[in-house]
Amino acid sequence: MAVLPIIKLGHPTLRKKAEPVTEFNDELKELAQNMVETMRLNEGIGLAANQVNVLQRVFVIDWQLIDEELDAKAYVNPEILAKEGNEIGEEGCLSIPDVRGDVPRAYKITVRYQTLEGETVEEDLEDLPARVFQHELDHLNGVLFIDRISPIQKKLLEPQLTKIRETYSVL
Ligand SMILES: [Zn+2]
Repeated sequence: MAVLPIIKLGHPTLRKKAEPVTEFNDELKELAQNMVETMRLNEGIGLAANQVNVLQRVFVIDWQLIDEELDAKAYVNPEILAKEGNEIGEEGCLSIPDVRGDVPRAYKITVRYQTLEGETVEEDLEDLPARVFQHELDHLNGVLFIDRISPIQKKLLEPQLTKIRETYSVL
């Protein structure tokens, strides 16, 4: 396993749409394992492939942070089939360090995804798990949580966002 570098706001890959995964091979499993290790080292609850500069439709979520009996899980070619309710909650992102914003999300969602073995799964998620899933799915479409916060909050955060873009563009 290996820890991968996480790209930050300002990097073009964060704004690109990831491509569907078509091969469920060892390479995909290795990517998912490395993403889990990277997510845990950085104390994130989720990590999308775009954030490690890979344009494939896969993200990982660490359910252990919600329930210690659960483990981290990889979601391949994820999609949302139905949404219900609406709730505003605070979010952050490993690609936008030290910035938090209030993001409206559907409270309950029905999702479909494939496992690392290529098996198709459908399930219902609500509350925090639904929020994390929506945040990570956004990444695969080039969308960031700061795109969904209120214009007033966006304006207040802009100096911080500019600083991140400037800091990481020189690295
Ligand atoms: Zn994120």
